[in-house]
Amino acid sequence: MKIRSLTVPRESWEEQLAIIMSTFSLPAELKLTICPECGAELEHINKEDIQDRIPYRTYENIKTVTHCKSCEKIFWIGSHIERMKKQLQRIQKTKL
Ligand SMILES: [Zn+2]
Repeated sequence: MKIRSLTVPRESWEEQLAIIMSTFSLPAELKLTICPECGAELEHINKEDIQDRIPYRTYENIKTVTHCKSCEKIFWIGSHIERMKKQLQRIQKTKL
């Protein structure tokens, strides 16, 4: 069995990610289908069903809400997701 290894620099997580994405030809996308807390699958739910769990101003501005089947946490697509997508695209363009 052939074992592959990849050495990444310690200092910069962004450079580590750029190297990993480049080496394994990973796309710069956020699927947002797995719970970041427990790793279980997320499912879409109607925000109206959990209105009492979302801050009012956030509730008014979001469209997509997901729910973890395991730990029952909820997640929504907010401005932080757009920042993460832009950051990921920037990292993908990093010159190695
Ligand atoms: Zn979870």
